[in-house]
Amino acid sequence: MSAFDDLIAANVKYAAKFRNSELTGRAARGLGVVTCMDSRIDPLGLLGLKPGDAKILRNAGARVTDDVLRTLVLAVYLLGVERVLVMPHTDCGMSKVTDADVHDLTQRHGVDTRSLEFHTVPDQDAALRHDLMRINSSPFLPSGLPVGGAIYDVHTGKLLPVTLT
Ligand SMILES: [Zn+2]
Repeated sequence: MSAFDDLIAANVKYAAKFRNSELTGRAARGLGVVTCMDSRIDPLGLLGLKPGDAKILRNAGARVTDDVLRTLVLAVYLLGVERVLVMPHTDCGMSKVTDADVHDLTQRHGVDTRSLEFHTVPDQDAALRHDLMRINSSPFLPSGLPVGGAIYDVHTGKLLPVTLT
């Protein structure tokens, strides 16, 4: 376990001060957030949330994939989510490469990834609109579900809301 010793040690301190034992698995603020795995994003902090408030769904590029839709269905009908914010960010690695680039890069490691779709983002605005539409038009989600989009600026900490037109 040596690769994780620092984490186990940190958890001992965390658990000693743990105060969230009363929380349930329902999203207390009725919020679902789809965002990127980028390590600069602190979804709770930047949205003024605390543990228990929201369902946070993360993947490379904050894309609304089939698995994100599956998770949102569960979040909405079982776990109290009543609004969804899709939140990609500036300087996203996914907007700097194409799927073909990724296949080339992995090939150099002797790995053939051509059976994987990476959902890279050549046009971030278009991708976000597409992803918002995917949620809005999903037959599995309530038609009136509020769905918002905003781009998080990793250099200023500010959110730039995007409106669907
Ligand atoms: Zn990203």
